[in-house]
Amino acid sequence: MKTDHFNRGKKRGFTLVEIMVVVAIIGLLCAMLLPNLVRARATTQRNDCLNNLRVIESSLNQWAMEFHKQSSDVAVWTDLNPYIKKGPLACPNDPKGLYSSSAGSGSFVVNEAPFCTLHGSVTDPVEPQ
Ligand SMILES: [Zn+2]
Repeated sequence: MKTDHFNRGKKRGFTLVEIMVVVAIIGLLCAMLLPNLVRARATTQRNDCLNNLRVIESSLNQWAMEFHKQSSDVAVWTDLNPYIKKGPLACPNDPKGLYSSSAGSGSFVVNEAPFCTLHGSVTDPVEPQ
C-alpha cells in the first residue's frame, strides 16, 4: 500500500537510453567472447585429431610387432581395426576424410607417422588459425 502511494504518478520501467546501454554492453561482451570460443573449438578439434593420429600410430606399431612386419610394410584399416576400439577414425573437421600416409589415404607405412591433411602429424602439427 505504501509503495503504491509513492509510485503513483511516476512512470515505471527502463528508459530507452538504459536499454541501449545494456544492449551495447551485451554486444561488447559477445564481441570479446566469440573469437575465443572459435579459437577454443579449433584447438579442441585439432587435439582430437592429433589424439586419433596417436591411436593410429600405436595400433600400427602393435600390428607391426605382432606380425613381424618390416619398416616399409603398409597396413590398411582392416589390419588396424582389431587394435582400435572405435573403428576407422576420421578427422573431426572432415568426418569423411580418412587419415593417410605416403602410401595413400587409409594406408599406413610402419615407420612413418600418419598425418591429417588439415592438422599435420603428431610430430609436426599445424597450428589452428
Ligand atoms: Zn585433422
